[in-house]
Amino acid sequence: MPAASERIQQISESDLEGWEVYVEAKSRIRCGEEIIMLAIGDHDFDTPSQSVAACKTALDDGRHNYTAIQGEPGLLEAIAKVSTAASGVDVTTNQVVAVPGGQAGLYAAMQAVLNPGDHVIVISPHYVTYPGTIRSAGGEFTLVEALPENGFQPTADAISNAIQENTKAVLINSPNNPTGTIYSKETLDKLAQVCIDKDLWLISDEVYWALSMGNHVSPLSLPQMRQRTIVVQSMSKSHGMTGWRIGWLIAPEEMIYYLTQHNLVSNYGMCDFISTAAVAALNGEFGVTEIADRYQQRGEVFRSAIADATDLIPISPSGGMYIMLDVRSIAPNTEKFAFDLLSEKKIAVMPGESFGPSTAGHIRISLCQSKTKLREAATRLSEFSSNYSQ
Ligand code: PLP
Repeated sequence: MPAASERIQQISESDLEGWEVYVEAKSRIRCGEEIIMLAIGDHDFDTPSQSVAACKTALDDGRHNYTAIQGEPGLLEAIAKVSTAASGVDVTTNQVVAVPGGQAGLYAAMQAVLNPGDHVIVISPHYVTYPGTIRSAGGEFTLVEALPENGFQPTADAISNAIQENTKAVLINSPNNPTGTIYSKETLDKLAQVCIDKDLWLISDEVYWALSMGNHVSPLSLPQMRQRTIVVQSMSKSHGMTGWRIGWLIAPEEMIYYLTQHNLVSNYGMCDFISTAAVAALNGEFGVTEIADRYQQRGEVFRSAIADATDLIPISPSGGMYIMLDVRSIAPNTEKFAFDLLSEKKIAVMPGESFGPSTAGHIRISLCQSKTKLREAATRLSEFSSNYSQ
């Protein structure tokens, strides 16, 4: 075959490095081994039934056609309402574009702010797709580590030190995957000031905003940030709709024009029946409180079940659907720890090293399992850690 473009060949590079424990656990499960899978962030439950019913009705009602490229008016209105509530500032429909999921939103945002060769500062630990998403827009990046001693909150100094002449944007994620850290207003104020001083975009990945126990702060609400912030949100986590592929971007009106052009050439608008169901789910808040409560309760169950394990220290405050445990006192190498845990106790977790150097010595626990399984996992993990050393 003729050569694939350099751009597309660069997308993945070695981004899936660090997933070896997950891959091994999956293959053991396929071979019939019973493993408690705490390594992946996808719900163990179905999408709320009202959303499914709304989708079936939409199909029966003939919602089978192309939709408005920016998003159907009713969808934009529903999103604007939800984003207004999430950010505390008035978001209008001309500041919204619908996209097929948060990942598509990240992709579009990078296409929108980067010229080839431009530079992005990525706050790490970070979501695994960020490097490839930046590379796919021809960009390059520097990881700025948010450190455990600062509660995984990034510092303005570290960000300022990483700025180059070609830096165009800072990419953040709060509540954070993998740490669960919710960036404080103080952190965001300082970060916003850097963006203002250096004339940078702030791309704010807020896909876990609803799983924050009300502690989420959006940089959109900070002074002078509306004109330089692009918020990425989706219904994947908040509404239990990972497989539906629906999300959106909030951006300045002029940028929405360009992002709509991007929709035109990339997806030609959202799926009609999913858009219609999404309007019902957003307006009816289907499942939102229940899902957030479920993850909060699961987090509490897991934390209290490991409370006596002095070598497993959970990070707090915590949002999203993960708990990060500090195991540095017994396991400087958490990839080995995770493999040993898998072999001995049949539990799959993500080693912190998978997410970058600042989470070395930590493991990420996904809460996408029932309370019973989480309790059982906590018991086995506590037993394991009490006898473990490297
Ligand atoms: N951003 C973060 C931090 C995530 O963890 C995920 C998915 O796990 C995404 C974006 C992509 O989410 P979506 O399903 O909306 O594409």
